[in-house]
Amino acid sequence: MPAPTDPNRVVIFDTTLRDGEQSPGCSMNLAEKLEMARALRDLGVDIIEAGFPIASPGDFESVQAIAREIHGPVIAGLARCNPADIDRAAEALKDAPKKRIHVFLATSAIHREFKLKMTPEEIIRRAVDSVQRARGYCEDIEFSPEDAARTELDFLTEVCEKSVEAGATTLNIPDTVGYAVPSHYADIIRHLKRSVRGADKVVFSVHCHNDLGLAVANSLAALQEGARQIECTINGIGERAGNTALEEVVMAIKTRQDFYHLSTGINTRLLFPTSRKLSTVTGMHVQRNKAIVGQNAFAHEAGIHQDGMLKNRSTYEIMKPEDVGIPATDLVLGKHSGRHALKQRIQDLGYQTDDAQVQRIFEAFKVLADRKKIIYDADVEALVENQLHSGTTEVWTLVNFTCSASFGVPPMAAVTLKHQDGRIVCEPAVGDGPVDAVLKSIESGTGVELKVTDYRVRSVTGGLDAQADASIEVEFDSRKLSGRGVSTNVIEASAQAFLQVINRIALRQIRPRLKPTDHVPQEVVPTA
Ligand SMILES: [Zn+2]
Repeated sequence: MPAPTDPNRVVIFDTTLRDGEQSPGCSMNLAEKLEMARALRDLGVDIIEAGFPIASPGDFESVQAIAREIHGPVIAGLARCNPADIDRAAEALKDAPKKRIHVFLATSAIHREFKLKMTPEEIIRRAVDSVQRARGYCEDIEFSPEDAARTELDFLTEVCEKSVEAGATTLNIPDTVGYAVPSHYADIIRHLKRSVRGADKVVFSVHCHNDLGLAVANSLAALQEGARQIECTINGIGERAGNTALEEVVMAIKTRQDFYHLSTGINTRLLFPTSRKLSTVTGMHVQRNKAIVGQNAFAHEAGIHQDGMLKNRSTYEIMKPEDVGIPATDLVLGKHSGRHALKQRIQDLGYQTDDAQVQRIFEAFKVLADRKKIIYDADVEALVENQLHSGTTEVWTLVNFTCSASFGVPPMAAVTLKHQDGRIVCEPAVGDGPVDAVLKSIESGTGVELKVTDYRVRSVTGGLDAQADASIEVEFDSRKLSGRGVSTNVIEASAQAFLQVINRIALRQIRPRLKPTDHVPQEVVPTA
């Protein structure tokens, strides 16, 4: 991507599908990645980093599918500084109308010495060779000196300068380990902007991790020194404590336009729907008090605040909930609401559905309305998401189950499941509790054994008749997978969540894959 013509325009580089997706509990399959990529395109991100093509055949396929289908944003693929990675990334991106190859190489002393075992001269040669090779495939090249925030400034300057000479068009300065603090990070950007020859021809980018809770603050500090691209993820998902949260950094730029005098291309009204979509797809929910998209972000409980709010909203409100796409009304539908009202609400919540889908959602809605007096937006969303994610592609479906909740005698469960080939199985099991017994019965029936690493149940809305939203995280073949189920019956929700994981495993061949941070001896791969 050439430098934006407007010097005050900040480029939003979304890495939800790469840095975000590789973090525990956030893995997505191809259909889910495509769904998120469409949402990111609609949200208005400038660049979608779609994955790390050499990491696994699945990563390659998803980058390729996104490159083919998603038009509008630039599609980026990640590559280490070696020919095989770069060639693979270029191959995956081949069909994208706008593409970027993102090459990275660690530059800090600790990484040079212990991970790469390369001298500074070798690092520079490898970076230059790689940028040149990538330029052979496309004009838009981003170079990242990994662990830049812990790299000696003189060496960092030299690496950056040489990679710009070699043809890099974006220089990304990652705080890979979340070590930087705002003024220190701003100093690095200022130094590089001043000292790197050719700095005026490239876009400076920032990539921050949140280990000290400073990713957003560091990114904003860098903007003041002239950085014009921010790498970020929806809900701030990512390795360890996560990456810069897109919704936070975008709303800081927008709300404090008076201070930064900068803008982005984001349609902020889609921030909340996009955040919800990611939570639903991954089963990883944001904390209640999360800035911008948390359940309490716009709630005013204290009486004195409520009084002020009633007199004038701006007494306690710096942003309007509708600016980030939080629906203005919540209490919406009941037993007597018609199909049309439901359809309208689904549209207002930002979903595109066809008539057949609306009909199926409506049927589920009527069943729910029998069990629950008031249907809130969150309920409607849960119904829609359930409908959009369950389809004819499910390998196993739940037919029925019985289970006993008991004290003094072990709880038992018998779950009846139907396989897509028509087979019916039912293997009774005993567990520590009713949920455990149900999961064990599903395991015996399907013959898939899983290690559950996390299990959470949350109520979708308030009230005893609320729907339960169960999420389960499991470890399978050294990968983490998650599933989600929603029902007014807690145990059914749990069974559905578990079954979703089992269906994910059955639907795709899960292969172990490389992470960008894994050490693969680069010296064994000769550069061109
Ligand atoms: Zn990262």
